[in-house]
Amino acid sequence: MSGAATSLPPKVYGWCPGALRPMMSGDGLVVRIRAPLGHLSVEQAQAVAVLSERYGNGILDVSARANLQLRGVTVDQHPSLISALQDLGLVDNDAAIEARRNVLVAPFWSAGDETHILAQRLSSGLLQATDLTLPGKFGFAVDTGPVPVLRDIAADIRIERNGNGFVLAADGAKAGLSVTVDSAVDEALALARWFLAQGGAPGGRGRMRPLITRRGPPSAHAASLGAPAPQQQLRHTATGRLVGLEFGQITASDFSVLAAYGPLRLTPWRMLLVETAADISPQPGLILDATDPRLQVSACTGAPGCLQALSSTRALARDLAAYVPPGSNLHVSGCTKGCAHPGAAPLTLTATASDTYHLILGGTAADQPTHTNLSATTLRASPDILTKGR
Ligand code: SF4
Repeated sequence: MSGAATSLPPKVYGWCPGALRPMMSGDGLVVRIRAPLGHLSVEQAQAVAVLSERYGNGILDVSARANLQLRGVTVDQHPSLISALQDLGLVDNDAAIEARRNVLVAPFWSAGDETHILAQRLSSGLLQATDLTLPGKFGFAVDTGPVPVLRDIAADIRIERNGNGFVLAADGAKAGLSVTVDSAVDEALALARWFLAQGGAPGGRGRMRPLITRRGPPSAHAASLGAPAPQQQLRHTATGRLVGLEFGQITASDFSVLAAYGPLRLTPWRMLLVETAADISPQPGLILDATDPRLQVSACTGAPGCLQALSSTRALARDLAAYVPPGSNLHVSGCTKGCAHPGAAPLTLTATASDTYHLILGGTAADQPTHTNLSATTLRASPDILTKGR
């Protein structure tokens, strides 16, 4: 056993890439679409598939905040792509609005229910809140189904259901403010302003959780929070069929095939919710079986797609998936940033050089390793290293 990874720390951009402010990656620009309510009609989804082939490399990602990313876009083609996406109503008119409208919506809503109404009102409230200059990653979650399903997903301000009412909570707080459908959005914006007034974003950076840890939530926040739902499983739901995507990635042609079944909803669980009652035909990149071992691994883009990656990630994760114990999870990260699983995971392999990884048990990609500099060949030959000595 030795110290943490010796590689250079990953680059921190301090802003969140979007469609209007794309990030350069190893395979071209990554254009991130923040689809309103995380929803794409059949026409929008099929048009995005065509645009991905025309302007990108035909690969789409569903991010951990339920955004849709087109990969492999060239700088020259970016303006034409944005214009086409704006015509589809999927991209805002300016980057400040795009950054502010960071609303994650629990995907099981029905048209006209409280989740749908609150998500629409919050999106439009943020659009109009031109005084609100929040840090790039600062986000909201509307999670007002019968039980919270987004508690494991990073969000600075949450609106949840609590019994017969609603509660607004700052991330990291153990209690929230009782609100109604009519007051929730104003209170959410007020809480965002409180965050800024309390010095939560020095130098334009910061998140709610550290502020709450330092000084606690506002004194009026005394309402209890509901118990969250267990981890989401692939299943039929009242609103459609959850379909897993290997590493959250899908080809444009598979995306178009899925859209032929019905409108698509983006989720933060590397799954799409397809609005259909039909069974989906198998495709190699789609995960339809809840026991598929690929659901127990996560891996970021890695090399060569990410410029910061020290090694490839996904081939190793795919090969090791079958050896991950039931109920456990393996995260393979191309560097210490841990984009695919920012929190602690039972098992993490963090690249330290080409095809070489540290193994971290119960920690994040940046934590102290238990085993250092394991080669991919060793891991494939002796996958029991993952669980030995635990
Ligand atoms: S964690 Fe992966 S995707 Fe994120 S910066 Fe590092 S190598 Fe790139």
